[in-house]
Amino acid sequence: MDRALADELRGAIAAGREWLREALEEGIEVYERGAPISARDPEPAPAPAPSAPPPAAAADDAPASATRAAASASGPSRAPASAPAPAATALFEPVRPWGSPPTLEEVRAALGECTRCRLAQGRQRIVFGDGAPDADLLFVGEGPGEQEDLQGLPFVGRAGELLTQMIEKGLRVPRSAVYICNIVKCRPPNNRVPLADEVAACRMFLDGQIDAVRPKVIVALGKPATSLLLGREVSITRVRGIWQEYRGYPVMPTFHPAFLLRQYTPENRRKVWEDLKAALARARELGGRIPELS
Ligand code: URA
Repeated sequence: MDRALADELRGAIAAGREWLREALEEGIEVYERGAPISARDPEPAPAPAPSAPPPAAAADDAPASATRAAASASGPSRAPASAPAPAATALFEPVRPWGSPPTLEEVRAALGECTRCRLAQGRQRIVFGDGAPDADLLFVGEGPGEQEDLQGLPFVGRAGELLTQMIEKGLRVPRSAVYICNIVKCRPPNNRVPLADEVAACRMFLDGQIDAVRPKVIVALGKPATSLLLGREVSITRVRGIWQEYRGYPVMPTFHPAFLLRQYTPENRRKVWEDLKAALARARELGGRIPELS
């Protein structure tokens, strides 16, 4: 075999090994259908540290419609037993039927008994979000698991217990003082990673939640949440701990608590602990009034 070809093969094998290592580290699941969040920019480049969050929701928000229905922002919601299968996942929903800035109630009301994507078919409950509506720290996870689906609340299973401990025992902040939500509001089958079209269908509701809460800092938990906020597929091992920005909000990416449970090493715990401390410190620097647990 000629030497150049051999070098090329060696390079390809090394790249494959590196990809596999990252995939294992990040707990990549099998994709059932469709594609994962697309790799629009495969080379992650850390963004400069943002200075301050935007004063209010983007000016391109549509004016409020009359949707001020008194829906509970965190109220559990069961999929109708006969929920029709969506003909096609709703990829575009340009009109945001809420005010600028919206309230969580408006965003929840607009989400309704959602059937915009196939996840509606398997869910027990919509898991909208939980926490303080004016929190200065907002955590974004991937999607509800079994317990979340049953209870209608985010991060209440094993990963949720760890997240709660990190917030309460680590940061010494009451969980009720932060806001927690996910990039998709319905449980993916077998806890697989949400597909790109499912994430796209749910995205405006995440944006609505962020604009309603207007946190000082967003903590992105794991690769799917970080990839969505950064607009490119990232390696969480490469970007965690490095400040990023989403629509003017400072974003601190860190490992997902489920990954930490799988790889509960002192090194990974230290990294997440540093990321969370940095997030809290920046939120306070930016004027966030985050209560301390006594
Ligand atoms: N994992 C997530 O990403 N979100 C949850 O709500 C629970 C587990």
